[in-house]
Amino acid sequence: MKLIHTFLKGGVFPPEHTRTARDAATWNAMIPARCVVPLLQHSGVPARRIVQRGQRVNEGAIIGAARAYESARVHAPIPGVVSEIIQLTLADGRQSEAVVIELDGEFQQLGRSIKPRDWRRLKNRRIYEQISDAGVVGLGGEGVPSHTKYVLPKTAAVEWLIVNGCESEPYLSSEYRLLRERPQQLVEGIQILMRLLSPKRTVIALAGHTRSAVSGLRGAVAAARSRIQLQRLAGKYPQGDEHTLVGSVAGRAVRGAATVADAGCMVIDVATVLAMYEAVLLGKPLVERTVTVSGGAIAQPGNLKVRLGASIGDLIEECGGFCAAPRKLVVGGPMRGHAVTDLTQPVTKLTSAVLALTEEELQSVGQTACVRCGRCVRACPMGLEPVMLHLLIAQHDWRAVVKAGVFDCTECGCCGFICPSGIPLVDQLKQAKSQIRREEHEDGERAH
Ligand code: SF4
Ligand code: SF4
Repeated sequence: MKLIHTFLKGGVFPPEHTRTARDAATWNAMIPARCVVPLLQHSGVPARRIVQRGQRVNEGAIIGAARAYESARVHAPIPGVVSEIIQLTLADGRQSEAVVIELDGEFQQLGRSIKPRDWRRLKNRRIYEQISDAGVVGLGGEGVPSHTKYVLPKTAAVEWLIVNGCESEPYLSSEYRLLRERPQQLVEGIQILMRLLSPKRTVIALAGHTRSAVSGLRGAVAAARSRIQLQRLAGKYPQGDEHTLVGSVAGRAVRGAATVADAGCMVIDVATVLAMYEAVLLGKPLVERTVTVSGGAIAQPGNLKVRLGASIGDLIEECGGFCAAPRKLVVGGPMRGHAVTDLTQPVTKLTSAVLALTEEELQSVGQTACVRCGRCVRACPMGLEPVMLHLLIAQHDWRAVVKAGVFDCTECGCCGFICPSGIPLVDQLKQAKSQIRREEHEDGERAH
C-alpha cells in the first residue's frame, strides 16, 4: 500500500466555512410519510412507470422499469399507496413524471439484518444483474447507470480503477463520513469491481479533509489483503472532477470529446461503490442515500441517510430548521449545484447535499468589467483561458470559441469563483456550448 502526494494544476481554494457537518456521525433521517419519486433520477432515458394511482406497493417494489440501455430502475422507497402521478421540474431543470406514495403498511427491509451473500461465488453476469436490478447509478455526478459504465464488457482495457474519495466542493461531507464509517464495506465493494474490471492498478484518492480517513482505510485494505493503493492529493477544488483526478492520479490528460475510459481509466465515487456493495451482497435496491445538510442558515448541519423522495424541507426541519435567513437554497455543492426555491423538491439519487446559504456566505458582488487580472487563467485546471473565451463569446465568434477549447471546459466553476469582477464565466461557457451545438444541429438539418 503506497501513500503518494500529487498536486492539481490550477484549481481554487474556496474558503473554509465554520458551520460544517464533517464531525457529526451520519444519522438515519425520519421515514417520510409521503415520498415523491421521480422516474428520471439518472442520465439517459427516464424509467417507464409501471404502477397506477391507487395501487399498493411494498418497500423496494419496482415502480419504474428501465426502458433503454441507458436507463435505470426506480423502486418504492417506502411501503404504501400510490396517491398521485405528477409532473415536476427537478432541481437540475429537467422535467420528470413522479410517483407519489403515501406511507402505509409494513417495511420489508428496514431494521432487519440481512446476511451478506458470498459474492465470490457469483458469476460476473449475476453481479451485473444485481447492480442493474437495484437501479444503481453514479451518485456523485450525472447519475450514469452503473451497469452501462462499470460492468458490461468494455472495448478498452481498464488500466486504472480510481475510487474518488476527494469530495473537494466546500460544505460537502457525506462521502467523508462514509469513508470513516464504512471502510470495510467500501474495500469489499472495490474488490467486486476489481474482479469485474481487472484493472492493473486500483487507487482510493483522498484530498483535503478526506485525507484524515486514511488510517481506517489502511486497516481495511490490510485486513482484506488487497492491493488497493491509497493516494493523498492536494485539497484544492476541483480535485474530485473526473478529468482532474485522472490527471492527478494516472498522469493522463483527457481533452475534448475523449472520456476517461479512452485514457484507460474508470472513476467511481465512494457512495456508488457502497450502493453496488448493498445491491450485490444484500440484494438491496437503491432507495436511500446519504445527504449533507449544511450552510450558515441551517441550525444543526448534519449528514443524513435519507429515503429517496423525501422533501428537502423535511431534511432542513430535521436539522433544526433555519437559524438565519437563507439567501440561497442549493441542491448539490455550492460550485456545481442547482439553486432551488421550492422546499418540496424531492431528494433523488443525485442529491448529494442541501445547502441553505446566507447573504454573508454568498459574498455577492455586482458584475463589473474584466480587469485582465489573469486569475481565471491560473485557476483553470484544464489549461484554458476563460478570459479569452469570455471575449470571443461576447463577439459571437463561435468558430474561435471552439478553437479556444470551449468543449474542453468541464464546467467546474473555478474561473467564475475566482473572478474579482463577478463575471458569470461558467454560465457564459455553458450557454456558448448550447448555442454552438444548436447551430451545428440546425446546419445538419438544413443539409438534409
Ligand atoms: S474554463 Fe471551464 S474548466 Fe476552466 S475553470 Fe472555467 S469552468 Fe473550470
Ligand atoms: S478573473 Fe475575471 S477579471 Fe480577471 S481576467 Fe479573468 S475574467 Fe477578467
